[in-house]
Amino acid sequence: MTGLNDQWSQRDLRVLWHPCTQMKDHEALPMIPIKKGQGVWLEDFEGNRYIDAISSWWVNLFGHCNPHINAALQQQMETLEHVILAGFSHQAAIELAEQLVAITPDGLDRCFYADNGSSAVEVALKMSFHAWRNLGKPEKTRFIALQNSYHGETLGALAVGDVALYKETYAPLLMDVITVPGPDCYNREPGETWAEYSRRRFQHMDETLQKHAHEVSAVIVEPLVQCAGNMRMYDPIYLSMLREACNRYDVHLIADEVAVGFGRTGTLFACEQAHISPDFICLSKGLTGGYLPLSTVLTTSAIYDAFYDRYESLKGFLHSHSYTGNALGCRAALATLEIFSQQAVIENNRKLSECMAEATRHFSDHPNVADVRQTGMILAIEMVKDKHSKEAFPWQERRGLRVYQHALTQGVLLRPLGNVVYFMPPYVINQEQIQKMVDVAWQGIELATA
Ligand code: PMP
Repeated sequence: MTGLNDQWSQRDLRVLWHPCTQMKDHEALPMIPIKKGQGVWLEDFEGNRYIDAISSWWVNLFGHCNPHINAALQQQMETLEHVILAGFSHQAAIELAEQLVAITPDGLDRCFYADNGSSAVEVALKMSFHAWRNLGKPEKTRFIALQNSYHGETLGALAVGDVALYKETYAPLLMDVITVPGPDCYNREPGETWAEYSRRRFQHMDETLQKHAHEVSAVIVEPLVQCAGNMRMYDPIYLSMLREACNRYDVHLIADEVAVGFGRTGTLFACEQAHISPDFICLSKGLTGGYLPLSTVLTTSAIYDAFYDRYESLKGFLHSHSYTGNALGCRAALATLEIFSQQAVIENNRKLSECMAEATRHFSDHPNVADVRQTGMILAIEMVKDKHSKEAFPWQERRGLRVYQHALTQGVLLRPLGNVVYFMPPYVINQEQIQKMVDVAWQGIELATA
């Protein structure tokens, strides 16, 4: 007799092709079919429970099956599920746009909807290029991106990313992007602060802008944390310097806050910590509290105005996705923002961040840990072969996978990026659950590095 988990797995593996997965791995690695979720917990078909320490790919903010979001969705479902957003509109799309304009950094006055993080990045890239073209600068066709960045998997988004594992295979298909050494602080000198290092690294950006600004449309960055690039972190000073330089060189700044938006870094948006407003901000993931695929790009009136003309001028932004501004997605987002306005989420997260810091204090003493870094509700631990030289374990050894496997046996969903174990939990996690998540990670690291 096979168990229920096995039965579902077998059916799954006959017909599904999973994201970001070498399917052959599942010959040895069990698939975990999930029956239900509640708060930070996921439960499989045999009643095993797992703490979702990575918020299901960084989307979930206030727990699975959140009663407030559920109720809002039920009501929306009875009223309007979806309507074409060209020529038509609806209450949830309008109210959400109003609120996003109000809460995002100053000057972001227009909200264009799409339906996932990658498509938001595509929108921002196209809008930036097209705005310059409409303004009589069609030669601004290139983009500057940071080393180790990640912006999604569609071809434009992949092109401005720099994670070899995802990008290299498709290189022949991708536009040519200018990639600049980044500000991530992992390789700073002993005794050097994050601010000193990030400031020093800005020199590369400044030189690149000086050389290429005439042909560059925008610089795209992930503010403060390069999430898919192994949770590498940097100081807000880099963003302040970048904003100033983009103004000086007449280049747009695109802030991809798909992963870091909605409180992950300790402020509602990461750009706030540098006191800057980008020309475009891309939002998705936490936007709907982790419920539904929705994304948005907010931009300035100046950009909007560059497109506003008679139809025959062909300056309009004729970009669309079928599910643009989906009513259920917008309603889930409104319910999520209600939770932010009704509860002291950011303040409470500060306590949770401190609790994560406290619980992982001893990790930096581990002989195979080179770095424990944290920005708000994101905490990452870099496992290495040699602590002093920071020599990495060969990627083929898949040490992180061992941590993943161990954690599952202990009821925690961790999903290390290579050799980097990290936590990015839903904000409804409590102290006891943090302790469990951290203890299990420690055991996993012990096993994986033994
Ligand atoms: N930008 C960033 C910074 C991301 O982390 C991601 C997804 N991990 C994306 C864009 C792409 O979003 P999606 O997976 O929804 O296409």
